Amino acid sequence: MSKKGRVFSGIRPTGRAHLGNYLGAIKNYVALQDDYECIYCIVDVHALTTVEDTLNLRQNTFEMALDLLASGIRPDETILFVQSHVPQVMELHTYLSMVTPLGKLTDLPTFKEKARQQPHNVNYGLVGYPVLMTADIVLYKSELVPVGIDQAPHIEFAREIVRSFNYRYNTNVLIEPQMKTTDVPKVLGIDGKEKMSKSLDNHIELALTPEETRQRVMMMVTDPQRIKRSDPGNPDVCNVFSMHKIFTPPEDVERINTECRRAGIGCVDCKKLFAENLNRALEPFRARRAELASQPDQVYAILEDGARRARMIAEQTMQEVRAAIQLP
Ligand code: SF4
Repeated sequence: MSKKGRVFSGIRPTGRAHLGNYLGAIKNYVALQDDYECIYCIVDVHALTTVEDTLNLRQNTFEMALDLLASGIRPDETILFVQSHVPQVMELHTYLSMVTPLGKLTDLPTFKEKARQQPHNVNYGLVGYPVLMTADIVLYKSELVPVGIDQAPHIEFAREIVRSFNYRYNTNVLIEPQMKTTDVPKVLGIDGKEKMSKSLDNHIELALTPEETRQRVMMMVTDPQRIKRSDPGNPDVCNVFSMHKIFTPPEDVERINTECRRAGIGCVDCKKLFAENLNRALEPFRARRAELASQPDQVYAILEDGARRARMIAEQTMQEVRAAIQLP
């Protein structure tokens, strides 16, 4: 079957992926492979804008590759690689930076937020982050970028940069990427308040053991108004219930919904059931991950092969870009 177009997405090497990464991005990456030619990149250069201590960067990149492959990324058809293994992206970033107004970059809410989070390290790379992101996308002539609706402004900005480049050099060599918006659930952490995130330590890693998973699940905050076992609960405000809707068979979800409201089920039992279902769902992933982890050379070979294929596309684009700029 011929594919509908080329998709690109980058994921940060944050080490072992958690449920938020999986439900918010990786699950969709896997599904997109059926219909699109996919290029997925572990963005280690982007990570340098915020990560100062790079001691674990190589290991974290490896762990992310394990999680992607164990989740179902198929490296024989999908290109999976590490960003820094394709140096052409740095060159394109430089050329794109010449057509990107500095004021627009410093006005972006994402830049202001990062600058607020790390006032001691407001570096040049942080300002140019959207330019490097644009270079990532357009280097591979990607037509589509899967994003949640909240990331729409980033893609619109990438399109503006592409238009500026094509206008300045009177060319159409770079393709304006389109958004492929996905209905990504907002996955809350075990605190039930903030988005699941490693930095907030409210996450559940996919690669935990079943017992570690159970312990994290038992820490999950439920309906805050339900104090005693005899209090009726409200599943509509309970994060455990949101997770049941993803990992528990529909008939059990319906039963929990009814029983919770009349205090027929306690939160401890409800969480135990969720932990069981989550562990069952993750069993094949964990088996595949352990197998891959025992063969690191094979994983590095997959990444190197992905980088080789990515470099071929990248160099072709760069030859056209250099010609368009009329570099001597
Ligand atoms: Fe949430 Fe389940 Fe407790 Fe109801 S019984 S509040 S759904 S954890």
